[in-house]
Amino acid sequence: MTDQKSIGVAVLGLGNVGTEVVRIIEESAADLEARIGAPLELRGIGVRRVAEDRGVPVSLLTDDIDALVSRDDVDIVVELMGPVEPARKAIMTALQQGKSVVTANKALMAQSTGELAQAAEKARVDLYFEAAVAGAIPVIRPLTQSLAGDTVLRVAGIVNGTTNYILSAMNDTGADYADALADASALGYAEADPTADVEGYDAAAKAAILASIAFHTRVTADDVYREGITKVTAADFESAKALGCNIKLLAICERLTTGKGKQKVSARVYPALVPLDHPLAAVNGAFNAVVVEAEAAGRLMFYGQGAGGAPTASAVTGDLVMAARNRVQGGRGPRESKYAKLPIAPIGAIPTRYYVNMNVKDRPGVLSAVAAEFSKREVSIAEVRQESMTDDEGELSGARIVVVTHQATDSALSETVEALADLDVVQTINSVLRMEGTTA
Ligand code: NAP
Repeated sequence: MTDQKSIGVAVLGLGNVGTEVVRIIEESAADLEARIGAPLELRGIGVRRVAEDRGVPVSLLTDDIDALVSRDDVDIVVELMGPVEPARKAIMTALQQGKSVVTANKALMAQSTGELAQAAEKARVDLYFEAAVAGAIPVIRPLTQSLAGDTVLRVAGIVNGTTNYILSAMNDTGADYADALADASALGYAEADPTADVEGYDAAAKAAILASIAFHTRVTADDVYREGITKVTAADFESAKALGCNIKLLAICERLTTGKGKQKVSARVYPALVPLDHPLAAVNGAFNAVVVEAEAAGRLMFYGQGAGGAPTASAVTGDLVMAARNRVQGGRGPRESKYAKLPIAPIGAIPTRYYVNMNVKDRPGVLSAVAAEFSKREVSIAEVRQESMTDDEGELSGARIVVVTHQATDSALSETVEALADLDVVQTINSVLRMEGTTA
């Protein structure tokens, strides 16, 4: 037992994550006290439904969030309610009254244009959000603290468990997207409305947070180029396998140096072919992983559970212990660092490799007509695969061509695809995906 005055904590939200955070605070009270140097005291829990059946003393529950965060005996507010509002208002109120804040709210942190960080700065308190990216996986603190002396070049990861579960199922079973999504929903891996996950919004929010921290530049979710996984087909997985690849939804944050030596930031989310020998290719099911490349450190990989009540609560309570320790010892964690103010590079300027899958008429000269469109726009072809297709009667109906390019810019590739679609010999462009993890 310490003689120190207790640190008052208000937890907002008693859902998947809040329940686990409250459990850890209660069950690990003695250990947390020893690590902090003062006991944590749970002053109240903010919810919508105040009732006896919630597994905590009803005297702790309140639906008056404003009053709870404003209590004089609350030192730290842990925000686990969710949507941008009312979370933003509650956090702002807490910071303005000199309370430190811990949150797991990625949507809010990816949208904040700095007002929360500025309020924390003004009040000289902590604002921590480790759990907002990749659940239990420590990635915010390594970027803000462990790599504070290095230059981060790239952060690329699988940061959405739902889409990774769906894509892993498509890869393992040959299922098409709709069936894999239905299975993921039935098993509780996808929400009733899966839009935020499958359209890449959740991953884009995380990419914005990662890019902001890695490159000391304000990047919001609106700055992130985004494509979801809804158009990935079973045929893409067949082709990917033939090319020695898997398909993953990647969040990529990159420091780019232009021809004139100027630095820019790229943040983007899209499904991409990843060679099987790349570490992200083997991250399966609902797991997350983030690969960080820094100038001096080289490549670092973080892997683990990116969601779920208990894993996320681990990251939240880690932040809570840090914030409480700072209260006891005086001082604060690192403040927001956005000094670099690098411009955001448009997607059209980003060089990547591409995979284009198209159906063509089976006649002589098709391949050279297709190749000519690539070459006109200086998109160099690395590999071509062609297979014949038959109709229901077994008659030859055309051919499928898969082209893999060397690095090209998005704008050159988009022009090429438009021109291919206009060719008489091309029946349909089935898919255009990027290929990551190789630089050829
Ligand atoms: P959840 O299960 O939906 O729980 C939300 C909680 O917040 C509920 O207890 C709810 O109260 C309370 N709440 C919502 N709106 C409120 C309001 N207006 N006033 C008072 N209380 C309100 O959410 P969760 O899954 O725990 O997620 C919490 C946060 O963690 C979100 O920001 C989420 O993005 C983030 N996060 C979650 C995970 C995960 O795996 N779940 C992972 C990483 C980050 P009632 O119970 O009374 O309805």
